[in-house]
Amino acid sequence: MYYKLPTELHCEKNCIINHADDICAHGKSAYIITGKHSSKENGSLNDVISVLESGHISYKIFDGVCENPSIENVMEAVKTASESTDFVIGIGGGSPLDASKAVSLMLANPDKNEDLLYQKCDAGYLPVVTIPTTCGTGSEITPYSILTIHSLCTKSSLPHKIYPSLALIDPMYLDSAPDTVLKNTAIDALGHLIESYINKNASGISKMFCNHALSMWKAVPYILKNNIRSYESYELLMMISAYAGMAISHTGTSLPHKLSYPLTYERNVPHGKAVGTFLCAYMRHADIYSCNHILSLCGFATVQILADTIHELCGHIEVPLSLAKKSVKDISSDPKKLGNCPYPVNEEILWDIYNESVKII
Ligand code: NAP
Ligand code: ZN
Repeated sequence: MYYKLPTELHCEKNCIINHADDICAHGKSAYIITGKHSSKENGSLNDVISVLESGHISYKIFDGVCENPSIENVMEAVKTASESTDFVIGIGGGSPLDASKAVSLMLANPDKNEDLLYQKCDAGYLPVVTIPTTCGTGSEITPYSILTIHSLCTKSSLPHKIYPSLALIDPMYLDSAPDTVLKNTAIDALGHLIESYINKNASGISKMFCNHALSMWKAVPYILKNNIRSYESYELLMMISAYAGMAISHTGTSLPHKLSYPLTYERNVPHGKAVGTFLCAYMRHADIYSCNHILSLCGFATVQILADTIHELCGHIEVPLSLAKKSVKDISSDPKKLGNCPYPVNEEILWDIYNESVKII
C-alpha cells in the first residue's frame, strides 16, 4: 500500500482572506492563472489580488485559459510569465487548475521546451496554490494535469505528478456557476468516485474516501433538480469533489474517462457530461458486489435509475458511428488506454459500453 497526499486543504467561507498568510508565505512573486471571465465575476480573483497586495507580493495575471486547455494554451501562459515568479496560483474550474500545474512545471525548468510536458522524467515544479470554482474535478488536490493534444486529437494526463501545496476552497464561488456547470461537474465527481472504487489500484484508503463521498452524493440529485443554492449545498458539492480528488489521486480514473476524451475533443461535450454518459455501463460490467455497494451508498435502487438520473441532469449524447469506431479501435488496441479497469476488456465489451451509453448516429 502506498499513500501520498501532501496538499494542505481548507474549505470555509472567506477562505482566501482567512488564509492570506499561507498564500503569502509561498514567495515574493506570484503568477495567477485563470479563465477568461468567471474568476472576475465570482470574486475569487479580487480576493486573491487583495491578499497579494496587502502582503506586498508582486503578481502577474494570465487570464486566457480555455476550457480543456491545450499544450499551446499552456505555453502561451509560460511565455507571458515574469522571470522572477516564485509560485503559481490557479483559480477556476479544472481547466485553469490543470493549466497552472503545467505552467509551474515549465517555469521551474526554463531551459526545457514543451516536450517536457509529456516526458517521463523527474522534473521539479514551482509551488502551486489552487482555488477551485467548480465542483467536480478535484484538481485542487490531485497531482494530475490533463491537456488537449491537438496532434493526437484527444486529451491526456501529463506523466508528472504535480501536487498543489495549498488548496483553498470557498464554496460561495459556486454561487455564480450556471446550473449546467454545477450539474456537469457534480457528475464528474461521481465519475471519479465510481471509477476509483471500481479500479485495480483501489485500496482501503481510496475506498474510505469513496465510501464517505458516495454517501454524501445521495443528496446531490435533490439539490441539483431543485436548484437549491445555499452555502450548505455548495459546501457539500465542493467537499464531494475534493474527496473524489483524494480518491483518484491514489487510483487514477478508468474507462469512462478514457472514453470521454475523444467526445470532448471531437464533439465539444463538457468533461463531466462525457464521463457521466459511460458510468453506468462501466458499472454493469463490474462485479455485482461493488456495483450494489456503490448504488446503496448513493441511494439508487438500480443501475438504470442512476443512468436515468444522470441523463436527466446532463442530457443524452449522440455520437457519429465513425467516431465510435475510432474510439473503440484506439482504446482496444492500446492496453495502456484500458486505464485501471479491474475487469478484462475487449472490443466487444467496449461496443457494449458504447451502445448502452450514447446514441450512435
Ligand atoms: P472548466 O473547463 O474549468 O470550466 C467550464 C466553464 O465554467 C468555463 O466556461 C468557466 O468559465 C466556467 N466557470 C468556472 N467556474 C465558474 C463559476 N464559479 N461561475 C461561473 N462560471 C464558472 O470546467 P471543469 O469541468 O471544472 O474542468 C474540466 C477540465 O478539468 C477538463 O480539462 C478535464 O480534463 C479536467 N480534469 C482534471 C482533473 C484532475 O485531476 N486534474 C480531473 C477531472 C477533470 P471561465 O473560462 O471564464 O473561467
Ligand atoms: Zn473527470
